[in-house]
Amino acid sequence: MQPQIILLKEGTEASQGRSQIISNINACQAIVDCVRTTLGPRGMDKLMVEAQGKATISNDGATIMKLLDVVHPAAKTLVDIAKSQDAEVGDGTTSVVILAGEFLKQMKPFVEEGVHSQIIIRGVRRATQLAVQFINEIAVKPKKDDETELRQLLEKCAATAMGSKLINQQKDFFSKMVVDAVLMLDDLLPLNMIGIKKVPGGALEDTLLVAGVAFKKTFSYAGFEMQPKQYTDPKIALLNIELELKAERDNAEVRLENVEEYQKVVDAEWTILYDKLAKIHSSGAKVVLSKLPIGDVATQYFADRDMFCAGRVPDEDLKRTMKACGGSILTTVADLDDSVLGTCQHFEESQIGGDRFNLFKGCPQAKTCTIIIRGGAEQFMEETERSLHDAIMIVRRAKKNDAVVAGGGAIEMELSKHLREISRTIAGKEQMLISAIARALEVIPRQLCDNAGFDSTNILNKLRQKHAQGNRWMGVDILNEDVADNMEKCVWEPSLVKINALSAASEATCLILSVDETIKNPKSGEGPAPPGRGRR
Ligand code: ADP
Ligand code: MG
Repeated sequence: MQPQIILLKEGTEASQGRSQIISNINACQAIVDCVRTTLGPRGMDKLMVEAQGKATISNDGATIMKLLDVVHPAAKTLVDIAKSQDAEVGDGTTSVVILAGEFLKQMKPFVEEGVHSQIIIRGVRRATQLAVQFINEIAVKPKKDDETELRQLLEKCAATAMGSKLINQQKDFFSKMVVDAVLMLDDLLPLNMIGIKKVPGGALEDTLLVAGVAFKKTFSYAGFEMQPKQYTDPKIALLNIELELKAERDNAEVRLENVEEYQKVVDAEWTILYDKLAKIHSSGAKVVLSKLPIGDVATQYFADRDMFCAGRVPDEDLKRTMKACGGSILTTVADLDDSVLGTCQHFEESQIGGDRFNLFKGCPQAKTCTIIIRGGAEQFMEETERSLHDAIMIVRRAKKNDAVVAGGGAIEMELSKHLREISRTIAGKEQMLISAIARALEVIPRQLCDNAGFDSTNILNKLRQKHAQGNRWMGVDILNEDVADNMEKCVWEPSLVKINALSAASEATCLILSVDETIKNPKSGEGPAPPGRGRR
């Protein structure tokens, strides 16, 4: 008898071979079924409740996938591609998951029949490559130098991105706002220069775009009420200095013999503080913002001298103020002069909903802006913020790379047709694989129809026929349960969204197909058992 060789720890589970690939594919299918119904303008939303009872309502693929808390190791790949799509282009997160799921579904029969994974993977890669090439070939590039045309392009892309969200009733209103916001940025288009604040109450249409910085009024001390709340052309000092009397109990131990010495310590502190305040005042600054607290003495001092101050300003807001108004954030008041002070045309503190806001308008370097979202429920505003984020990302992408394709399944149908034509010229197994991918691409229009309650077979037949006749941009017409030229209907999407979605979906497919063994070792990674408490 041969001795048994023990290779892995007790309790380790290993599953391998073809059945493993199939089971991974099935797990992914289950994930895809969760998000399937959220695709498109008629997609449904999901309400997710976390452990602490926090509820989130969302239509965004990446958000849903993140909250699903998937434990299956292979299915996690789909979560990752949704996240990466979100980070890379912002939109198309549901599409990417559905595409990956459908690729896997179409490849399953091949796995079952015993085609080697490597051959399937090669086929998928080839098909993706051909598809991406083709998108680049047919994408439409409107003239970029024409201001109005560029603006229209951006607005249409933003409207398409928001068309599938909760806020689609207001998409015209919001697409203008999003484009305005992005066009305010400088050429690098940094995302963090668009601040998004949420104030409960009011209607969605009350949402406003501030060309400049806005942030919630910070905590303030007595004396604040006496400060003016409006200035024109004020000088703005941005500080990282604490303007507060440091109580003696802090930080240091001082041994004193008598009361006079104690008085000296106290006096010294007042002098230091008053020194700082006097320097700030004499610099001519009217508005003083600090990242650190501004205490009651300082508040009073500024109030007496017709100045405004706000302490504990959040870091990102202070940085955005600096970007917008110029100047620099100072850690000392030693060289406070005009070169380090910012300015803006108009500063005011005003009431927005139930909150008071500090608004800096007409900033000279206005490379930043703030969107203040209004609305009823908290969850609704959060979803609005996510939808605006998608749209902002899309507009940024479209501005950098202005090629667009038609959405609503049009581009997918055209790709499908193209791949099917090419596959006929290829011999061998690859032919089957590429035409399987071509079939898989039809999932997007089919799902759009299913979600809207249309007869998908009927519409897909019409679409195939139209595309065969050379109507390149025929896609699903969501409003009329029919097919329509989505290029004319202005359902535009940046080609980059589609390219990224295709590549990510194909990568995920290849990854899952190439895993033929999962080894689970429950013991490792657990660490030592926690020490016992109490008596035994
Ligand atoms: P994703 O997270 O993938 O962006 P969405 O729920 O936003 O998912 O749905 C996007 C899909 O809806 C895209 O395929 C897009 O082409 C399609 N779509 C958006 N607006 C329309 C419209 N007005 N008519 C038809 N299809 C549309
Ligand atoms: Mg979308």
